[in-house]
Amino acid sequence: MLADLHSHTTLSDGSLSFEELVSAAERNDYDVLAITDHVDPTTDHREVAVTVRAEVDRLSPDTSVRLLAGVEITDFEPAVMDRIAREVRGAGAQMVVAHGECLMLDVYSGTNAAAVRSRNIDILAHPGLLTRADAFMAARNGVFLELSALVHASYANGHVFHVAQQAGAPIVVNSDAHARDHLLTPRKVAAVIVGAGGTTADVQRVVDQAPSALARHALKALAAVS
Ligand SMILES: [Zn+2]
Ligand SMILES: [Zn+2]
Repeated sequence: MLADLHSHTTLSDGSLSFEELVSAAERNDYDVLAITDHVDPTTDHREVAVTVRAEVDRLSPDTSVRLLAGVEITDFEPAVMDRIAREVRGAGAQMVVAHGECLMLDVYSGTNAAAVRSRNIDILAHPGLLTRADAFMAARNGVFLELSALVHASYANGHVFHVAQQAGAPIVVNSDAHARDHLLTPRKVAAVIVGAGGTTADVQRVVDQAPSALARHALKALAAVS
């Protein structure tokens, strides 16, 4: 199963249109792709969620890739993160990603903590130097911790893998694609996991279990807001 649950289009800062991103996913033999454009305090987050959902619904009948509509909650103050997540969910987001405390970006301190405590967030992306306490909270709430395949977002993958293993928190590998050559392949997914300290058994577990477990988590959150 090749699933990628974090990607961007020209609606935010990606370089591919929705059509181009979906056809790139087809070429890489994706089974599942979530399109999760950024929402931030300068955007109308509900409107972005509605637009991504409409594009996903429009393109779904003509592709073999199972498409999911989502957003990446970016640069909001931690205190409002859960509310924003609930509101985008209500506007149609099927996969809600939080833009975590990546080592290479300026992200509010406390973002990771807020994300793993929200039942409306599915994935904490590029969490950087995630604390053990936050990894345990992610495990408790079923929030997936991302190992990123994107160059600048991946420096802490080894740390994230280590604390996630200790806490029993679920892991997912995503491309965070902003361009065509960022998309995943099975080989890249395996390289990201093994490169972060995992074994081939970990690769198998993540590839087999993460997509369906994440779908269950997202559906539960969706049911709670509707
Ligand atoms: Zn991000
Ligand atoms: Zn992203």
